[in-house]
Amino acid sequence: MERYWNQEIETMSREDMKKLQDERLVAQVKHVYENVEYYRNLMDEKGVKPEDIKSTDDLYKLPFLTKADLRDAYPYGLLAKPLGDCVRIQSTSGTTGKRVVAFYTQNDIDLWEDCCARAIVAAGGTNEDVCQVCYGYGLFTGGPGLNGGSHKVGCLTLPMSSGNTERQITFMRDLGATILCCTPSYAAYIGETLHDMGYTTDDIKLKAGIFGAEPWTEEMRRSIEKSLGIKAYDIYGLTETSGPGVSFECSEQTGMHINEDHFIPEIINPETGEVLPDGETGELVFTSITKEAFPLLRYRTRDLCVLSRKKCSCGRTLIKMSKPMGRSDDMLIIRGVNVFPSQIETVLIEQGYSPNYLIEVDRINNTDTLDVSVEMNPEQLSASKDDIQNLEKSLASAIKTMLGINPKVHLVNPKAITRSEGKAVRVIDKRKLHD
Ligand code: ADP
Ligand code: ZN
Repeated sequence: MERYWNQEIETMSREDMKKLQDERLVAQVKHVYENVEYYRNLMDEKGVKPEDIKSTDDLYKLPFLTKADLRDAYPYGLLAKPLGDCVRIQSTSGTTGKRVVAFYTQNDIDLWEDCCARAIVAAGGTNEDVCQVCYGYGLFTGGPGLNGGSHKVGCLTLPMSSGNTERQITFMRDLGATILCCTPSYAAYIGETLHDMGYTTDDIKLKAGIFGAEPWTEEMRRSIEKSLGIKAYDIYGLTETSGPGVSFECSEQTGMHINEDHFIPEIINPETGEVLPDGETGELVFTSITKEAFPLLRYRTRDLCVLSRKKCSCGRTLIKMSKPMGRSDDMLIIRGVNVFPSQIETVLIEQGYSPNYLIEVDRINNTDTLDVSVEMNPEQLSASKDDIQNLEKSLASAIKTMLGINPKVHLVNPKAITRSEGKAVRVIDKRKLHD
């Protein structure tokens, strides 16, 4: 039986949800227009007044907001509440450039933690669970968000933060952790360390993992599920919209339900800004309709995915987003071909390799080069030079089939690639250094 944290909202009819969104959107636009000069200017430039927004059908009239705007307005330019009403800041990981900061009132924190509580309950969490949070704590939203959600659900919360992986496993075993929250790349590392320490899944009590903050493939999911003996759930969010918990996976594991009572999603064509119908892939845009201190309207996430209103077996009526395959700025253009690191990950794991890999792109003699290093499996250590070359060739040809371009594959020794305790860095684009 599927359980819910907030059954009324999570299973609300489409009409009721739209009504709720309409009311909240109208109030939010007014709040933003009155309190944020930066927004007022953007709206005035576009010739749109708060009165023009009468329901979610008018959403398209509002200007977009981008990460560049956030950097422009840093630090206080988008603040919609007096500083005296704010109780917290968090900051992005800075994966793609200068960090941006987000502000929270106490109410904002409550709503955010509530979203995380929905995710934990959807993963089967109750007050009987021991929830080990090894997302980073601090400015990064992962730790604080899941920590708060775990408290709300009443789980015994282990605020481990990331790092010190052997200690993670000792605590996991000693305290009988049942739910693990971290990035998928760190989950893979924890799984690997568990086995390196001589334990098996019989030695731990974990049943579920809530993993997000970076793209990960279905193949990666299956590999983590096997090594930790759990069901792995995806969770999505970004600092700009509070943090993790904007959307979360249910038992069906076919995409993440968006907390639509707080965030209205749209999918747009990233080139033209045109709104696309459900079912088409494009850039995800969010309008936060309940946030007080840092409410972003039509914020362009740069994450690429698809929305679906297909009925879900869990009973939730909240719209679902597919796993983002990466950000538009993660996409590499190599010899004119669009390449997502996640496509390479799919091939590597399918071919029986571990998710420890590094992609290096360069331009040599005016030609783009693609080098993929992946760790060989321990049993391949004794293979002859010729055998290794053949393995590399066959992996290169599998990648070529997926991407249409030929990579150079390097099988490296086990453990040669640095493990990630947070967001994994899987791509080095040296072409940028030459520019
Ligand atoms: P930064 O933008 O510096 O990485 P954040 O820590 O706020 O800062 O990261 C938010 C981003 O992380 C999202 O925009 C998205 O690209 C990525 N992300 C978060 N959760 C997921 C997920 N479940 N799947 C794929 N990508 C994710
Ligand atoms: Zn569902």
